Amino acid sequence: MNEVIRLKKQMWIKAGLAVLAAVLIAGVFLAGRMSVEPLTEEMRAELRDTRSEADERAKEAELLREDLEDSEEMQEKLTAKKAEIEALNDRIDELEQELAELEENAAEEEEHDTESDASSDDDSEQETTNDSESVNGDDSATGNGNGAGSSDGRPDSGERVVYLTFDDGPTDLTPDILSILDDYDVPGNFFVIGQRMENYPQLMRSMDGAGHGIYSHSYTHDYAIYESFETYYEDLNLMEQAYERVLGKEAPPLVRFPGGSSNHSSIEYSGEEFMVELTADIQERGYHYIDWNVSSGDASAIYDDPQAMFDQIVNQSQGEDVIVPLFHDTDRNQATRDILPDVIEYYQAQGYSFHTLDDLTQEEITRMENNRILNRNVVR
Ligand SMILES: [Zn+2]
Repeated sequence: MNEVIRLKKQMWIKAGLAVLAAVLIAGVFLAGRMSVEPLTEEMRAELRDTRSEADERAKEAELLREDLEDSEEMQEKLTAKKAEIEALNDRIDELEQELAELEENAAEEEEHDTESDASSDDDSEQETTNDSESVNGDDSATGNGNGAGSSDGRPDSGERVVYLTFDDGPTDLTPDILSILDDYDVPGNFFVIGQRMENYPQLMRSMDGAGHGIYSHSYTHDYAIYESFETYYEDLNLMEQAYERVLGKEAPPLVRFPGGSSNHSSIEYSGEEFMVELTADIQERGYHYIDWNVSSGDASAIYDDPQAMFDQIVNQSQGEDVIVPLFHDTDRNQATRDILPDVIEYYQAQGYSFHTLDDLTQEEITRMENNRILNRNVVR
């Protein structure tokens, strides 16, 4: 009996143990299942996150690549812009240079009649010829006194002649000019500024005594004189008073307008017709006005280039029997002084004689009028 009970007990224990084991195994299995399950979820989630992060990074990388491409493009654009800027700077330099030249040319134009076209309508003004006696007027005391060789007599008929003219003096340069003219025994014609004349009375008197021609240019040389007839004649009147005070005689009735008869400054002050009217009016008052047909360029950009000036003088002199070259007698015209001997020698070699503008004969007047040097019509 006991044995049976013991066996039964053992059976139950074994069964219990088996059940327990089974339960344990199941528990372990379940527990394992239960712990694996969340881990994979976690990993999947991480994978998802990582993938989406990778996607994001890839997008960022794409954007960065685009940026890089953009910046390369920008670099190219920048390089192109720099080249453009450089080209523009070069152009600015060019334009500045051109502007400077234009300004210099404009300055020259003030002294240089730009109307060089040979419109022949100017001979219509025959009455100007009749006025011409006024130049021969009573200033016979002028000039012919003692020296300046060739000015002693008027040119022979048809002779090739040069009337050297010097504007805007006197200045410290004037003694040099006078000395050269004296060396070659040729006369000059000085269109002086009244104010300056008063600063060099002694020099003016020795210029006069040496037989050079001295004429009115302007008292102030301020282009505002072209505001009206009144302002012009007021200035001319002051000029003539200074002339008389310094030289003790009347100024010859021969003027050179500041800037010449076709000057542009007068247009700014008083319009296109002003010089047309003024030149007619001044002739009615018994004056002649004179321009030039050869410009030395000494009021232009080449004022300090002796070779360029000499070449220009020679070029413009070709084929001219009557020559009125324009020079300036101011402190900056050192090159004018330097080329003067060559210019004189050139004309002498070509058979020209040198004269003042004093006591012009009717033939001289007519020749200069025909050559549009004297009393030329202002063409606008
Ligand atoms: Zn002048």
